[in-house]
Amino acid sequence: MNPSDFIHPEDAAALRQLQNVPGLTALTKKFLAVGYEQIMHGVNMASCVQLSPSQLPQLYNRLPPICEKLGIEVPDFYLTMNPMPNAWTFGDTRIYIQITSGLVEMLSSEELDSVIAHECGHILCRHVLYSNLASFVLGGINSIDPTGLIAAPLKLALFYWNRKSELSADRAAAIITSPEVVARSQARLAGGPKTLTDQLDLNLWAQQAEQYEVIRNDGFWNKSLQMYAIATSDHPFAAVRVREILKWSESEDFCRIKTQIENGTYSDNICPGCHQPIESHWQFCQNCGANLKK
Ligand SMILES: [Zn+2]
Ligand SMILES: [Zn+2]
Repeated sequence: MNPSDFIHPEDAAALRQLQNVPGLTALTKKFLAVGYEQIMHGVNMASCVQLSPSQLPQLYNRLPPICEKLGIEVPDFYLTMNPMPNAWTFGDTRIYIQITSGLVEMLSSEELDSVIAHECGHILCRHVLYSNLASFVLGGINSIDPTGLIAAPLKLALFYWNRKSELSADRAAAIITSPEVVARSQARLAGGPKTLTDQLDLNLWAQQAEQYEVIRNDGFWNKSLQMYAIATSDHPFAAVRVREILKWSESEDFCRIKTQIENGTYSDNICPGCHQPIESHWQFCQNCGANLKK
């Protein structure tokens, strides 16, 4: 798939800003290349369960079809024992996805697909390099900026982008499963197991995000407090994610992509203007005349 078909506009804008910071991409790649990626490869191999067609295939086999639909290479896939439900993606030249046992236990199989598709969405949108950087900085692994190489405003910009990147990955998950499944998975991760959250009213929960907006916009002081509360968080608040994905599910973009995928007419080479398939040698769209030369 072409990420520009579904990437959240705030993610795209923030990502462009990061890519324009001189040296940031090279610095991060260097940090991974000098050893961190190899360290993680060894640690995972030694301490986690590497999933494969012959190792817990009922779990592993969920991944390749999702990768095929999104058009990415199948990354390494690990299971780690941790009762906290979680999943993450790491790497640059050798990307892996890791899921915890808590995640597998808490989610239904389609909710698990939505989390795996979310991680694959990060890979497709080329988020992984900067999200690695954000997790180093957030996790207090300061070896990457021992002398404060990464200035505070840049850190906040990185965290801001990292939160917005989640919204695009949620969209990838909604394309693979459905917006309701993505929202339902969020309900599990925020509110607990099925026994508690199965009857949860997703729309009511999404409305909490509207109430949050009211609190957040109630004068300068409240705005500052709420900005402070989220500034160093790596994920948007759960209710905000649910509201965003349910809102996107009603958009023309989502309906078009979903229909095209279902009837096999989706093409990742489409005109940004009229969303019709285009030929790679076209300089201008032959349907709407849009300039296609970059
Ligand atoms: Zn994510
Ligand atoms: Zn066009």
